[in-house]
Amino acid sequence: MDFDQILLEISRYVQPLFGKGKVADYIPALSAVPGTKFGMALHTVGGETFQIGDAEERFSIQSISKLFTLSLAMGFVGEELWRRVGREPSGNPFNSLVQLEYEHGIPRNPMINAGALVICDVLLSHTKDARQAVLDYMRVLSGAHDIVFDAAIARSEADTGYINLALANFLKGNGNLENDVEAVLDLYFHQCSLVMSCSELSRAVLHLANGGVSWHLSETILTPGQVKRLNAVMLTCGLYDAVGEFAYRVGLPGKSGVGGGIVAVMPREYSVAVWSPELDAFGNSMVGGAALEYLTTLTGRSVF
Ligand code: GLN
Repeated sequence: MDFDQILLEISRYVQPLFGKGKVADYIPALSAVPGTKFGMALHTVGGETFQIGDAEERFSIQSISKLFTLSLAMGFVGEELWRRVGREPSGNPFNSLVQLEYEHGIPRNPMINAGALVICDVLLSHTKDARQAVLDYMRVLSGAHDIVFDAAIARSEADTGYINLALANFLKGNGNLENDVEAVLDLYFHQCSLVMSCSELSRAVLHLANGGVSWHLSETILTPGQVKRLNAVMLTCGLYDAVGEFAYRVGLPGKSGVGGGIVAVMPREYSVAVWSPELDAFGNSMVGGAALEYLTTLTGRSVF
């Protein structure tokens, strides 16, 4: 497959879409990013790397982090996890309060904010230093040992995180948090503030295309059974209430964030990350979604 040519074609196809979405503006660090940024990186299970545009530039990964914290938490508690969080698509916005109330404090899935807060609670209960554990995990998975939290973004998240505060308090009130609300939110705001490039993100999810074996260490990160489960949760919950549309158009398990990034995997073939900050009404990258749709169209292959 000539991925160099395919990425070039994708970068041309998406040009008319710039200016149609809207860069996240709830914090200055996100609103300051130029909407015209576009990067894409792809790693094959055979060890090849392809990239185009701003693929080496770091950006705020935001909710893409939910995939990694889930993976880490699954390692600590296994199937027990599913007593505290569901695994069905939410059909509601990522920060919905109303759904959490009528489902009695059990978040619909770990890819929405309420679910991610429960995952933070699990990590706090099973590590001495949960922030460091998340950072170490990202460094191992990506092979980039200088990955850090962006302190300014973490602070802005905390300053504006009223709805997340409400979600965390509601979870605590329903007995679904073991740790203090403040500690859970602090970890959540920090995971949102991780800054990584497409190239680093794509490498960090390559094991999900490769039966759980990491790209650079030839080391098993997850079992094939865990990979199946994570990819299933991504496919059904990874793009919030637009997940059906993404499956229909792209046909790959994926996870998005309001920083404009999306990661996706084609099992046994490749992992891919795309970044373009302008979002659609669901909080997913508009150009990023289109780029991935072109990718599966031009390769003629998807999980279906
Ligand atoms: N920091 C954002 C929030 O918690 C992340 C949401 C997202 O990327 N969808 O609201």
